[in-house]
Amino acid sequence: MHERIDPKDCIFCKIVRGEAPGHVVCEDERTLAFMDIFPVAEGHVLVIPKAHCTNLLDADPTDLEAVIVRARTIARAIRDALAPDGIGTFQLNGAAAGQTVFHYHLHLIPRQSGEKLEIHGRKPGRAERLAELAAQLSSAVAAEEAAGAVS
Ligand code: 5GP
Ligand code: ZN
Repeated sequence: MHERIDPKDCIFCKIVRGEAPGHVVCEDERTLAFMDIFPVAEGHVLVIPKAHCTNLLDADPTDLEAVIVRARTIARAIRDALAPDGIGTFQLNGAAAGQTVFHYHLHLIPRQSGEKLEIHGRKPGRAERLAELAAQLSSAVAAEEAAGAVS
């Protein structure tokens, strides 16, 4: 697994720095969540640490914790906003495992009963629809946070 890249050339670092566009759902000190541009399903979100790391193997433990806690809030927001039958979370390590962007990211994918399980989308989402979904999920995250995420 020798997929280390320079953060200055990393597409997800560019989104963090505002140098590349991203349909952002939410962010905090350590994490950023945005819509996947090749969604497997409507509401496909990626959660990343803002600090660059390649994957699970070199990720900072505090960043990992921040990502999974944020993913929990976003999963609840997806449930409330989109009411899928289930939500898949997955994360790939190394090209041989299917990883294509070498900045750690956790996928959150709304799933419907009976549909085929896929890991990568085949066509880009429409920018207007991704923006709508980002706004919808952003509001649902805010509501979840206001409710204290206790239920
Ligand atoms: P991986 O295969 O590494 O687990 O997943 C990388 C994901 O990043 C894919 O689902 C792909 O669609 C998504 N992706 C690749 N480039 C970009 C980009 O520039 N912006 C966004 N929002 N998603 C991207
Ligand atoms: Zn990066």
